Amino acid sequence: MIKTLSDLYGRQVSQHQIKSNLLNNNALCKRQAIQKNRHRWRCQRCNSLVYQTLPNGQYYCHSCIQLGRLTTTDQLVSLPEPNMFHDLTKKCEWQGKLTSQQEQAAQEVLLSIQSKNSRLLWAVTGAGKTEMLFPGLTWALTNQLRVGIVSPRIDVILELAPRLQSAFPQQSFIALYGDTAASYQYTQLVLATVHQLYRFYHAFDVLIVDEVDVFPLAGNEQLHFALSQAAKDKCAQIFLTATPSPALIQKVQRQQLAVSYLPRRFHGYPLPTITFIKTAKWRQKLQQYQLPKRLVKEIKRLMQIKRPFLLFVPHVKDLSDVKQALEKLHFVDKYATVHATDKNRAIKVQQMRNHELNFLVTTTILERGVTFAGIDVLVLGADDEVFSTAALVQMAGRVGRKKSRPTGQVLFFGAHLVTNIRRANAQIKMMNRRAHPVE
Ligand SMILES: [Zn+2]
Repeated sequence: MIKTLSDLYGRQVSQHQIKSNLLNNNALCKRQAIQKNRHRWRCQRCNSLVYQTLPNGQYYCHSCIQLGRLTTTDQLVSLPEPNMFHDLTKKCEWQGKLTSQQEQAAQEVLLSIQSKNSRLLWAVTGAGKTEMLFPGLTWALTNQLRVGIVSPRIDVILELAPRLQSAFPQQSFIALYGDTAASYQYTQLVLATVHQLYRFYHAFDVLIVDEVDVFPLAGNEQLHFALSQAAKDKCAQIFLTATPSPALIQKVQRQQLAVSYLPRRFHGYPLPTITFIKTAKWRQKLQQYQLPKRLVKEIKRLMQIKRPFLLFVPHVKDLSDVKQALEKLHFVDKYATVHATDKNRAIKVQQMRNHELNFLVTTTILERGVTFAGIDVLVLGADDEVFSTAALVQMAGRVGRKKSRPTGQVLFFGAHLVTNIRRANAQIKMMNRRAHPVE
């Protein structure tokens, strides 16, 4: 329930969510929540077509009902964002130093923010992209702009919050995800999962979207609508990704979107490329609890030289088959299987970090965000259609993340060298050519 007007700046809620004594304020903007356009009813919060009716004949939006039901009698109420921020002397206190390539990308982001233009920041896995935002953020915050940093993934928000806190210790901000929206208050800087944007309306002068290629944002029209509604008419939108979708790449090629490439990792070494190993009938073998010979040989070698590794498989149901196959191999010990809803997931990841495990067999849950030092990556069934080009690039990107071992090997086992694998390797090689041009 909204109790003070400032909580409505750049927000949108139904009239039921506002204390009644505020509703008569002349400054409020009210619009019908579900509007008829070309004979069809459409929700103004999520842009879905509305078909469902209540017993009284009113239409209501089923798509965004979890945010509170909107019917044809409801209004969406908002207050224009006034940029009423005080104390604009906050400095960025991050003490690190950008590489010359990071510095260039950071300057381009700064220019986009100053001119309220959009930009794609295409930074390889392990490039250190957060730090490149700091010059632009500092400028935006000292110039009274309202800034939103959003991501489809809660993990990203949770990981970013303390880093921003230490870089901008005098800056108050709020992190919104899940049910935390209950404790909303008006701040200049907002960290949020993309779903929270349904509650914003023309709020942000700068909107930074991290991991723009990731589910549920990728290909979700309602969420993209929420993004565009949360942005002011003049807004700098900065999209960050290591693996842009074909749609984003097309926008860049058509020069509809400016781009900054960050092809070099922070330690300066190239990305490990993919080695494809043709293993016919791996799926049939796995059904008989057997692994391809080349894969067995590789596991044995890695165990002997005590190199930690991740073994990715396409599906959760493959984990138990791989486990049965591994149990037949006398030289294999100290490993675990892990998947998204595994309740011991965090413990197993920590054991891997502590070197208590030699390897993890996993589905794509560990494709991003999780960093282990000095690992190699093996993918069994890399030709399975569950693996997108982006997922394959991200899995390969787990290798060589640390300065202590900036290289490593990426082996993809599959029956066919499918298009997604070709594209993933082409993307990696393209970025390496950009990072390390032949003189
Ligand atoms: Zn809706």
